[in-house]
Amino acid sequence: MFHEGESKENSVNFPSASRHVTTPDVETVVIGAGVVGLAVARALAEQGHEVLVLERHDGIGRETSSRSSEVIHAGLYYPPNSLKAKLCVEGRRRLYEFARENGVPHARYGKLLVATAEDERERLDVIAGTALANGVSDIVRLSKADVRAREPEVSAVAALFSPSTGVIDSHALMVALEGHIRGALGSVVLNTEVEGLAAPEGAPFEIATHSTGAQAGERAKLTARNLVIAASLNATRLGAMLGASSRYQPPETYPARGHYYALDGQAPFRHLVYPLPGDGWLGIHLTLDVAGRARFGPDLEWQQQPSTHFDDENGARRARFACEIRRYWPGLEEERLLPGYVGIRPKIYRQGEPAPDFAIHGIREHGIPRLVALYGIESPGLTSSLAIGAYVAAMLPR
Ligand SMILES: Cc1cc2nc3c(=O)[nH]c(=O)nc-3n(C[C@H](O)[C@H](O)[C@H](O)COP(=O)(O)OP(=O)(O)OC[C@H]3O[C@@H](n4cnc5c(N)ncnc54)[C@H](O)[C@@H]3O)c2cc1C
Repeated sequence: MFHEGESKENSVNFPSASRHVTTPDVETVVIGAGVVGLAVARALAEQGHEVLVLERHDGIGRETSSRSSEVIHAGLYYPPNSLKAKLCVEGRRRLYEFARENGVPHARYGKLLVATAEDERERLDVIAGTALANGVSDIVRLSKADVRAREPEVSAVAALFSPSTGVIDSHALMVALEGHIRGALGSVVLNTEVEGLAAPEGAPFEIATHSTGAQAGERAKLTARNLVIAASLNATRLGAMLGASSRYQPPETYPARGHYYALDGQAPFRHLVYPLPGDGWLGIHLTLDVAGRARFGPDLEWQQQPSTHFDDENGARRARFACEIRRYWPGLEEERLLPGYVGIRPKIYRQGEPAPDFAIHGIREHGIPRLVALYGIESPGLTSSLAIGAYVAAMLPR
């Protein structure tokens, strides 16, 4: 990586393609140190790649990955044979194993998916069928009395119980992944924002960066043989830079916010509790973190200019949450809901459209050798992260 000094130019000029640089500075660059970028970098590093992860913030996992429900999903909902279904089920298996072996806090609480009205029973059957088709064979059907026995405060006419659903400390997971990357001679460089990308034919990728840290604004350029874009909400922008000279058009990203409320005081639950899913989301569910603290959310708010600011004018949001939660927990006292945090989903479809699969683009989609670009890695992206890592590593053999 060579530094260019204190240039204040806004445009990024690369050396012309005719320069034909043949020896790249780095074998593989991964843009983004969220859980997916780190899992990809770890898989590549363990496959023998010399990997450099570039991250614009001053720490790992500062965006989508630190604002999720931290649930290890079983794989109940996703269309059979989709990447979401396959990578979730495989990722879940890998995640429990990795967490056990690396001392990452996690808890296999199990989850109740509840029907709160008679006309919802049929949907439970459909979901049970999808789960089975996805290879989730441990689902148990519960009657109203079974639900009461497991969770006395939960009201439901019937439920599915998923014993393999759990939660994980996502930050500890990312710290462990970073340790693996460094142990395999890879590195994670913070405070480094990628501002320009080019893919000259027959030459390494050209990557222009600027520092966002103490030397804010300092620019640098480097070249890499392989490139992975794991930049979540910013992936479309970066993919489009490479598409500028080809006909490649990355999928558009449509951010959708989700708010969480924490439950004040002790939670009277032992399992996660989910209502039936709605269009594009899983409903206001109850999750427990690894310490057993309860939180509710996320809601779904499509916004072009999203922010992580928690807003609740006149308590209207809290009232809406309370109303949703009381469908399965009638005993909720609304004052116990405390504002929590906001996460932003990197959706690649518009409100009202059917949810597409994860988009993991290789040469077939964009025509650029040795580039993998990931888009729309929303839930179950955390659960799938280690499987996504293995999948991407297989696309970039040494
Ligand atoms: C509200 C919510 C709840 C969720 N709940 C769950 C759940 O319970 N279970 C589950 O499995 N999944 C869940 N998910 C999905 C999961 O959180 C994501 O799929 C996952 O965190 C995505 O990780 P990522 O690494 O792709 O993205 P990110 O964590 O956003 O990482 C991308 C990184 O790229 C960096 N970056 C972007 N542009 C640049 C640039 N130009 N230069 C350098 N760095 C750059 C960013 O700073 C960021 O750190 C949830 C998501 C949301 C929003």
